[in-house]
Amino acid sequence: MGLIVQKFGGTSVGTIERIQHVAERIIQTQQEGHDVVVVVSAMGKSTDVLVDMAKQITSTPSDREMDMLLTTGEQVSIALLAMALQQNGVAASSMTGWQAGIETEAVHGRARIKAINTAEIKKQLEKGSVVIVAGFQGVTESGEITTLGRGGSDTTAVALAASLKAESCEIYTDVIGVYTADPRMVPQARKLHHISFDEMLELATLGAGVLHPRAVECAKKFNVKLTVRSSFSDEEGTWIEEDAKMEQGLIISGVAHDNHVAKVTVKNMSNQIGTLAALFTTLADAHINVDVIIQSSYETALTNISFSVSAEDLPRTLEILELNKEKLGYEEILSEEGLAKVSIVGAGMVTNPGVAANMFKVLAEANVSIKMVSTSEIKVSCVIPSSLCKVAVQSLHTAFGLDATEKAIVQG
Ligand code: ASP
Ligand code: MG
Repeated sequence: MGLIVQKFGGTSVGTIERIQHVAERIIQTQQEGHDVVVVVSAMGKSTDVLVDMAKQITSTPSDREMDMLLTTGEQVSIALLAMALQQNGVAASSMTGWQAGIETEAVHGRARIKAINTAEIKKQLEKGSVVIVAGFQGVTESGEITTLGRGGSDTTAVALAASLKAESCEIYTDVIGVYTADPRMVPQARKLHHISFDEMLELATLGAGVLHPRAVECAKKFNVKLTVRSSFSDEEGTWIEEDAKMEQGLIISGVAHDNHVAKVTVKNMSNQIGTLAALFTTLADAHINVDVIIQSSYETALTNISFSVSAEDLPRTLEILELNKEKLGYEEILSEEGLAKVSIVGAGMVTNPGVAANMFKVLAEANVSIKMVSTSEIKVSCVIPSSLCKVAVQSLHTAFGLDATEKAIVQG
């Protein structure tokens, strides 16, 4: 039997008792004959606590020191989990990112993994040890400690599964899988048994917090067999795979939402070849992730460009634009907060026309005004006032036949 990578999120290792429970699950997997590499997050909300402590000192901590601080969270949980295994007579060895050979690019706070030198992990596995790797962290070529971005432990797990050619990668969390919508917002939401990499990537990117988008990207690229399941139940979770069996008769697999969206409008920018490139290169260089982009220009010398960013990035976006006002040559910047993005995702869209039209109709009937729209082959997103987010998500979930009861009717 082969190697399995298991990743346990913050809630799953939130208390000593839970760490002991996780240890039992690992031991069970090992007893079934597998080698096990484990990735863990920091305990409970401890990363938030660390962020908060830094904020009490300064609103602009240096990125390097932030990484130094945040990586300690995972160092606590790997050591405690290793002890819990050892206490049960199981050989276990904890490793920080650098000990595990996880090399990242030289960016603090959101570094990407460049390569993993798995020699040390393999050595420990050969000795019969369970290897426990700190999630969310790595080291640059020059020896600086980095983090992969919030939620990045999922990516650590998938990247390890890919480089160790694991049989599968199991992401253990506090929900039983991937849902058709956030069950806290839509009580009729259902667990999906299968979903394709592309759909999952859209959902994860759209703010369905269950998986780090880069983890899905990596799993797709290296065809890692990936599952999301609960550490508190034995119920089978959701499988994320290349060719997911389509849920019966449904065009849409899920409705996602992101409640922290801001809109920026750059007014009266000179309308030349290269205008958009200059604007968005400036933002990209500052590592600002731009989402929906709208430009409409007529045969005039000036153009207006609107785009959305996460609410968190708004102050920095405005700051960067202000700093580059002369270079970019615009007249004024307008911004709007308190927005949300609701999206419908489904591979079935590719072959079914009229899905966007239906979405607009449902939102109109629910009295939801639409501020921006963007589409991909398998997704339609609308930016709306965040006060109407819940109504919008619920209406779409029902209208596209995703409600638990609707499903029963479709199947019957
Ligand atoms: N502890 C980190 C965070 O909260 C990484 C993770 O949990 O994936 O973002
Ligand atoms: Mg997570």
